[in-house]
Amino acid sequence: MLEKLHDLKGQVAVVTGGSRGIGKAISIALAEAGADILLNYARNDAAADAVKREVEALGRKCVTVRADVGNFDQAQNVGKAAVNHFGKVDILVNNAGVNRDRMLKRMTPEQWSEVIQTNLSSVFNCTKAVLDPLLANENGGSIVSISSIIGEMGNIGQANYASTKAGITGFTKSMARELSRNKIRVNAVAPGFVETDMLMTVPEDIRATILKDIPLGRFGSAEDVALAVVYLCSSSGSWITGTTVRLNGGHYI
Ligand code: NAP
Repeated sequence: MLEKLHDLKGQVAVVTGGSRGIGKAISIALAEAGADILLNYARNDAAADAVKREVEALGRKCVTVRADVGNFDQAQNVGKAAVNHFGKVDILVNNAGVNRDRMLKRMTPEQWSEVIQTNLSSVFNCTKAVLDPLLANENGGSIVSISSIIGEMGNIGQANYASTKAGITGFTKSMARELSRNKIRVNAVAPGFVETDMLMTVPEDIRATILKDIPLGRFGSAEDVALAVVYLCSSSGSWITGTTVRLNGGHYI
């Protein structure tokens, strides 16, 4: 039965923001489970190339595409690259995200818009970009978007970020309803605080305070999140759609 967790052989996964942090762990975990990877990133070519080499060392194919997925046209190029290189798409992981934390009084329209575009419009842009290839699959496919505990809890200084992550929940539920007849499952994962570069943007004293509020006594790892994504994408998750899986060490119950 447990082979269902590793049955992605022959499948093609598009992972946005796949070059660092949680997206890197997701790319590697999906490759370990058998998938070939279309890895998108925005700026850091060296990081993307390093993940490509790790995926290839697992015996899978990996194509990297530099694109700002918050931009509609650039996101369409990500979908086109997947079809050009692999001929199909089975899985989309909407992972790319940024934070620009500021109290609302000081938050600029640019800081609001950048986070909305990168974290939420990208989910629309990339889902549109791979929709036709997903619909063409006889066996459907899977979309997983990375939401956040902040979308449920809200947070001081994160009105922009929290709005995008709550928005992902509504998008996920709507798409699950729209696409279930095509056997396309649509889910989200809402991690708590995970040890990546993004968490390091939070000042050390605030991180220490946050840690005290996590009943399991540690921050999450990128691998904790990646395992949940593989579960949802594999046939182990074949009866799950429209759901947000929470992983947060008990931080939000
Ligand atoms: P990270 O370490 O900062 O990595 C972000 C990744 O996204 C990088 O690969 C980056 O590529 C890419 N990216 C950024 N802007 C992009 C754009 N416009 N187009 C395409 N790619 C872009 O972040 P992370 O902590 O792994 O976060 C990944 C996701 O998990 C985000 O959606 C985040 O909101 C969510 N999340 C994180 C935490 C946490 O505590 N870390 C908790 C809950 C949810 P470049 O390096 O090339 O710019």
